[in-house]
Amino acid sequence: MGPEEKITGYFSILKQKKIIGPSYIFIGNNLAVVGRLLKIINCQEASQYCSQCWSCKRLDDFKHPDLLVVEPEGISIKINQIRQAIRFLSRSSYLAPKKTLLVKDAQKLTEEAANLFLKTLEEPPDNSFIGLICSKLEDVLPTIISRCRKIYLPYLENKAIKSEDDLIAALSSGYFGPQKRKNFSLFLESLIILLHKRLKNKINYTGQPENGFLSGLNFKETVTMLEKLFKIYQASGTVNINLAINLIKMGLKCN
Ligand SMILES: [Zn+2]
Repeated sequence: MGPEEKITGYFSILKQKKIIGPSYIFIGNNLAVVGRLLKIINCQEASQYCSQCWSCKRLDDFKHPDLLVVEPEGISIKINQIRQAIRFLSRSSYLAPKKTLLVKDAQKLTEEAANLFLKTLEEPPDNSFIGLICSKLEDVLPTIISRCRKIYLPYLENKAIKSEDDLIAALSSGYFGPQKRKNFSLFLESLIILLHKRLKNKINYTGQPENGFLSGLNFKETVTMLEKLFKIYQASGTVNINLAINLIKMGLKCN
């Protein structure tokens, strides 16, 4: 059984026993799995989900009248967004058995917004489900984490790394086992593209604050890192992956 089946199987059991908890925090970048969990929670046609019913079809696009998705407006999730979300949860549901609130990038809740959210996380209105999503648990306020059940999402295999969040998820997932040489090459490719894009756009070399470890690299260091990555990439058929990953982590200053 793969990591994804473990999670979906677990939620199916919770559903059958009618003991799905009210608040969860999902760690990782694999939104598709969260989508499947929402279908499990809401589909009334199958013990898991059917992908055919009105509810499943709408949840496939994350567009369901009983689902509200909150994500950062600009750089943060603001108190007004959480106020609206709480109001949404307190109304009765349109069709689904539960009202669902998804909060993407939960690490970006402002402290004000988080404080307002705490009570709802602890005692959500009846028939609601709250899912917070973050790429790295350490960045989320501990008061938020302590009120949620934690679910580690399986790392999205063969997904190109398009953002620093993906990169962090890949580096911290323990994803590069000895059998993962193909994934490792793909990872190198996308990391090279990501860094190259940063050089081209001169992103954040002006001292603009930014989360994460890429912001610790100046222009020259980024160039050096790219040269290193090219060398590793050329040898990626034979290189010791663990050693290479450590070199990359050191170069990215993420230790
Ligand atoms: Zn269904």
